[in-house]
Amino acid sequence: MHCSKCQQMHPAVTVPDQGRARRSLFARAVLAAVALFAGVVLVDVCQVQAASQPVAAATDARIAGDESRTRFILDVDAPVTFSISKLADPYRLIIDLPAMDFRLPPRAGDEGRGLIKAWRYGSFAAGKSRIVLDLREPADLDKSFVLPAVEDQPARLVLDLVKSDREKFLAAVEATRQPDQAGDAAPVAAPKGDRLDTAAKTRPVILLDAGHGGIDTGAVGVHGTLEKAVVLDFTNELKRKLEASGRYTVHMTREGDTFVPLRKRAAMGRELKADLLISIHADSVRSGTDIVRGATVYTLSDKASDDVAAQIAESENLSDVIAGVELNQEPAEVTDILIDLARRETKVFSIHFARTLVEELKSAVKLINNPHRSAGFVVLKAHDVPSVLVELGYLSNEHDEKLLISEEWRTRTATAVAEAIDTFFQPRLAMEKAPAVQATAQ
Ligand SMILES: [Zn+2]
Repeated sequence: MHCSKCQQMHPAVTVPDQGRARRSLFARAVLAAVALFAGVVLVDVCQVQAASQPVAAATDARIAGDESRTRFILDVDAPVTFSISKLADPYRLIIDLPAMDFRLPPRAGDEGRGLIKAWRYGSFAAGKSRIVLDLREPADLDKSFVLPAVEDQPARLVLDLVKSDREKFLAAVEATRQPDQAGDAAPVAAPKGDRLDTAAKTRPVILLDAGHGGIDTGAVGVHGTLEKAVVLDFTNELKRKLEASGRYTVHMTREGDTFVPLRKRAAMGRELKADLLISIHADSVRSGTDIVRGATVYTLSDKASDDVAAQIAESENLSDVIAGVELNQEPAEVTDILIDLARRETKVFSIHFARTLVEELKSAVKLINNPHRSAGFVVLKAHDVPSVLVELGYLSNEHDEKLLISEEWRTRTATAVAEAIDTFFQPRLAMEKAPAVQATAQ
């Protein structure tokens, strides 16, 4: 159709760049779908894609049908463009949209129907929103279209899914593969002369990582507290404290409610040449919700130190699955001797900081038994950035949830973490001060 705003022709639906033949087939399928709704006039879908401002609001959603054919309907207050892709293991269908204002009922997406097990929505990257449908089994996209508002009916985005098989699904995954998932950085080879020396006389660089964000809410508390929100509040508080000391340069992996893939978080640590990465979480456990409470400090290890550690790492590493990010294969084990040396050195620093942090936290908050644990957290994998992950408490525990939203607790705990950081960097900070002291003594 012709767009009056930019004087160009737009397809009703945008699909990822995947070759003309496939696109025209898809376009024909869409047109066929539209033809079924005789009398319906497709509206102008030209949208300003660049803006991060929501272009439309999603006001309600429904699922109809059964396990052979399922329809997903999203009510929107303005027409939107969208693109569809698929991911396997687990089977997911991804709907990418411009920035949207989601005004959906609470618990929307918790329960699915037919081929859809559950679904999630939220911001995915700047100017982008995403809906992820978790599929019960492989499904094909039969039709997808936007219906304009008619009388008292709002505009709707409609997706029809039909039962399929694994082979067909995998072929569709290949066909809709998106080359760059939210700027997820490819693993970088270590440059020669990797940073084994930390002698540079600059302020320590600290990267604070508030877990989850955007479409990935993280754990949900007994009374509905969202992990992504409490960890961002905490991280902001810690950042304020560290900056007020004037001793550190502090960065954040996310400042707002946006999603950042796990590997990108670790890659940011490398890019910033961070001296420390602290990832902040407040998760939940499936069993022992009454017993498992208090803070835990995790470092990276191939083998989990215990069952709870394994369970927590597993749920943390699901972040990318939840957001509908394609999981890159683990990068091939790097055998570069410099990387290996850096990794070993980093491990020593990480463990040293974890122990320091546990000591400081002991005086401020309740800790879990054996509070320093280890497991294979993806976010901790930068080989030359000392990294720890802190579970502030467990949202699955009612008492912990109360604490996590209390300002008094937040201030006390952030102070303890800041003190641990001071202790950790104390030798280096003292060394940097030394020449200045001499100078004034003369
Ligand atoms: Zn978490």
